[in-house]
Amino acid sequence: MAENLLEVKNLKKYFPVKAGVFKRTVAHVKAVDDISFAVKEGETLGLVGESGCGKSTTGRTILRLLEATAGEIVFKGQNILTYDRKQMRKLRKEMQIIFQDPYASLNPRMTVGNIVGEAIDLHNLAASKKERNEMVRELLEKVGLGSEYMQRYPHEFSGGQRQRIGVARALAVDPKLIIADEPVSALDVSVQAQVVNLLQDLQKEFGLTFLFIAHDLSVVKHISDRVAVMYLGKIVELTDKDDLYNNPKHPYTQSLLSAIPEADPKKKKERIILEGDVPSPVDPPSGCRFHPRCPKAFAKCSEVEPEFKEYGAGHFAACHLLED
Ligand code: SF4
Repeated sequence: MAENLLEVKNLKKYFPVKAGVFKRTVAHVKAVDDISFAVKEGETLGLVGESGCGKSTTGRTILRLLEATAGEIVFKGQNILTYDRKQMRKLRKEMQIIFQDPYASLNPRMTVGNIVGEAIDLHNLAASKKERNEMVRELLEKVGLGSEYMQRYPHEFSGGQRQRIGVARALAVDPKLIIADEPVSALDVSVQAQVVNLLQDLQKEFGLTFLFIAHDLSVVKHISDRVAVMYLGKIVELTDKDDLYNNPKHPYTQSLLSAIPEADPKKKKERIILEGDVPSPVDPPSGCRFHPRCPKAFAKCSEVEPEFKEYGAGHFAACHLLED
């Protein structure tokens, strides 16, 4: 059984809402509100939910690109929220991020060789320029780009190729954990599978651990070992991938799954349409946050927050319907 590489414990990330001439804090956006999960070494955990549910904030808070409001982020047994700058600088080598937008995340004035080589330089990973260039060449080849691209600039590449450059940059420092923040959402559907397959191949080759963030359950299906579903700052369900797709317990997960088109036209699936928009995380609904939109809500749902509990081996969910 693999060990936990990352443990997120009761993590909260609130953003203050300021108003008035004195810019006083009048409220908080509760983007991430008390979530806990672990990612085992070598596994891929998919983190899924509609936009604004807090999944990207979770990824950025784990990397400390945003400072947590409360909770613990335990990486290799150490709570990294206690780390000072120097310790964090060292740690950044082990935790990398691949951004959603391959157009915005690459410096347009730098050649691909320098974009990928920058991290090698920053962490002094090469003894000479020759060695550094050799490393860059190898990395580009690993992501399916020839070394002839080293002197080119990002605008000369397609979206899929740019995302490959982003992957090579993340790999340059030999990380343990990669947080892939919607890495294929900005790409054409035809290119998405290629990038997902590439990430899977690299995971095997380098023993990587992934937190794979997506807004769509169909994207994470292929790559994830387990999947966590987020709604309005909370994790509402977390389990093994097959279990989630075959036996979703939470009404929100059921509605997300019903939106995925069925490949086999003979299999009929009833689409569950959710009413209304996702409520504001400044003032989330009482009780179960999903209750204003839940087709199965009953009286207790608006009054009592359901506990996130285990219902069957490794299958966690937060819903009153599951309680006996
Ligand atoms: Fe729906 Fe109630 Fe379950 Fe929330 S607790 S998901 S509102 S049934």
